[in-house]
Amino acid sequence: MTHSVVEQDAVVTLLYRLKLDDGSLVEEATDDEPLVYLHGHENIIPGLEAALEGMTVGEQKKIVVEAADAYGEYDPDEVDEVSLSDLPPDFEPEVGMELALRDKDGNIYEASITEVNGDSVVLDFNPPLAGQRLHFEVTITDLRDATAEELEHGHVHDDEEVDEY
Ligand SMILES: [Zn+2]
Repeated sequence: MTHSVVEQDAVVTLLYRLKLDDGSLVEEATDDEPLVYLHGHENIIPGLEAALEGMTVGEQKKIVVEAADAYGEYDPDEVDEVSLSDLPPDFEPEVGMELALRDKDGNIYEASITEVNGDSVVLDFNPPLAGQRLHFEVTITDLRDATAEELEHGHVHDDEEVDEY
C-alpha cells in the first residue's frame, strides 16, 4: 500500500520550525536534516502526531500544541536536591548542565542542574519543554511505505545507523 496522506504506518519526512509563546525559536528541522518518523507509533509528541494526520506532500501548516499534548505540564515535585558525594568525584557541576543518571535498576533519567550549592546540586527532572505551549510550522516533504522491519520495531531505520533493537 502506498500512502498519499499522513496516516498510520506511513514514514513521514517533514521540515519544521518550533517556537514558544514568546516567539523564540527552539528547534528547526531543515532540508539538510529533516525529521523522518513512522506515523502512528508514538515516535513524536501526541499533539503534533494528531495534527499531521491527513496532510499531503508539499502541504504546509501551523500547529499549536498545548503543553499537556506535548511534554506535559511542569511538575514541581520532579525537582530533587542531590548530594555532591552521590556524584562522580571529578564532576564539576554548573547551572544549566544536562545529565543522564542511571538508577539501580538501570533506568536512565535526564535532568538539568538548576542550582549549585556548597555540597549539593538541585536537579530538575522535568523535560526541558515541560509546561510550554509549542508553535510548529511544518511542511511535509515526503511519504513512503514502512518496511516490514520498521513496522515490527515501531520506528524508522536509516542506512547510516546500526539498529540493534
Ligand atoms: Zn529498529
